[in-house]
Amino acid sequence: MSLFENTLKQIEKASKLMNLDQEIKEVLSHPQRKIQVSVPVRMDNGSLRIFNGFRVQHNNYLGPYKGGIRYHEQVDIEEVKALSAWMTLKCAVLGLPLGGGKGGIIVNPKILSENELERLTRKYTELISPVIGPETDVPAPDVNTNPQIMEWIADEYSKIAEKETPGVVTGKPLKKGGSKGRDTATAQGGYYILSEFVRENNLNPKDFKVVIQGFGNAGSVAAKLLVKDGYRLIGVFDSQGGLFYEQGINPDELLKCKAEKKTVKKCGVHIEKIHDIKGAVCREVTSEEFLEQKCDVLILAALENQITSENAERIQANVVLELANGPVTPEADEILAKKGVTVIPDILANAGGVTVSYFEMLQNKSGEYWPLEQVNEQLEQKMVVAWQEVKLNSEKYNCTLREAAFITALIHLEIKIREKGEF
Ligand code: NAD
Repeated sequence: MSLFENTLKQIEKASKLMNLDQEIKEVLSHPQRKIQVSVPVRMDNGSLRIFNGFRVQHNNYLGPYKGGIRYHEQVDIEEVKALSAWMTLKCAVLGLPLGGGKGGIIVNPKILSENELERLTRKYTELISPVIGPETDVPAPDVNTNPQIMEWIADEYSKIAEKETPGVVTGKPLKKGGSKGRDTATAQGGYYILSEFVRENNLNPKDFKVVIQGFGNAGSVAAKLLVKDGYRLIGVFDSQGGLFYEQGINPDELLKCKAEKKTVKKCGVHIEKIHDIKGAVCREVTSEEFLEQKCDVLILAALENQITSENAERIQANVVLELANGPVTPEADEILAKKGVTVIPDILANAGGVTVSYFEMLQNKSGEYWPLEQVNEQLEQKMVVAWQEVKLNSEKYNCTLREAAFITALIHLEIKIREKGEF
C-alpha cells in the first residue's frame, strides 16, 4: 500500500466519524497539481546525470501551498502526495492561513559534493519556478535539506523573478531573512504538546524514560529539550543503528560524538566515558529491538511506516509522539489504540515547523525580526490551542487523537470551502 493510500484511509475514517460532505472529502482526496521534473546536473567529473524531482500542490483553500522539500533516494510521487496532503491538514489543525504542498528529489545528497548539490538545487528551482512564489507556494526544509539549500533556492528564484524575493522559501539562514527558532521549531512544538499532556495527567517528567528514533533536526532538538526538563533519554537510533543506555544519555555529548563518528551507533564507548560509570552497559540494538523497548515515550523522528501491523503488537511505549510524518500506518494505529497506547499524531505533533515558517513569512512581509522569546511564546500558544481543540474533538467523537486531529482539520477546511461557495 502506498503512503498516499494511507492518507486517504485516514481522511476516509475521520470523514465518516464527523459525517463530512462527500464532495468535500472527494476534493481533498486529490492533489490539485502534481509536477514532475527531470533535473540535468553536470557532475564534478564532467559527466551528466538526470535526477527526478517533484512538487505536489495538494490544496490552497486556506492559503498559499506550503511544505518542505525532501532529498532522499527513496522519495517518490506517492510519498510526496501523502506529505503534501498532510501539510494541508496540518496547517488546518493549527489554524494557519496556508495550504499544503511538498517537494522532493530522488537523490542521496550525502554522496554529492557541495557544488553538485548547489547545481542540483538551482536547476530544480528553475524547473519549478513557474509554480512557486511568496504568494503561491512557499517551500521549506525537510529531510536532508537545510537553510543553505533554502538560500540557493531563494537566490535562484530571485534571479528568475528579476527581484529580491527571499519570501519564496522559509527556513532560510538568519542573515538571509530566516526566523529565529525555525531550526528548532518542529521539536519545540512537539515538546509543548507533550508537556501539556504530562501536566494535564499530573505526571512527572523525571519518571519518564524516553526513546528517540532519528537523531537529526527534529530528534536531537527534542532530546535536548526533554533532558533539560528532567526526562531520562535511554535510547537513540539513527539510519545506521542505535544504542541503549538505561542510566541516561546526555544529548549534547551524543551530538558531539555523532558529528565526529557520523552515527550514534558508534558512540557507546564515548557515553560510558562521559558518564564516568565503569562497566556501564551501553547496548547496541537493531531497529526492531529498538522500537520494541519498554519506555514511557517513544519519539518517532525519522521516516514513515516505522510502526506497522508487523510490530505494533510488540510496542511497549505508553505514548508515541510523532515528530516524523506518517511513521505509524493506519493498521498499526488500530492495534496501538486497542493496546491503550496514546499516539500524539504527526499533523499536530510536528506542526511547530510550519507554524514558525508562517512566523517567518509574517516577519518577511513586515520587515520585522522577532526575538526568540516572542517566536517560542507564540508557537506555544498556537500549539496548545490546537491541542485543546483536538482533545475536545476526541472526546466529542469518542475517537483517537489522530482521528480527532483529522476531524479538527476537516472542520476548518469545510468552513472555508463553504465560505467560498464553490471548489
Ligand atoms: P533529518 O534529516 O535532520 O534527520 C533524520 C534522522 O532520521 C537522521 O538522524 C537519520 O539518520 C534518521 N533516519 C533516517 N532513516 C532512518 C531509519 N530507517 N531508521 C532510523 N533512523 C533513520 O530530518 P528531520 O528534519 O529531523 O526530519 C525528520 C522527520 O521529521 C521527517 O519525517 C520529517 O518529514 C519530519 N518533519 C520535519 C520537519 C522539519 O522542520 N525539519 C517538520 C515537520 C516534520
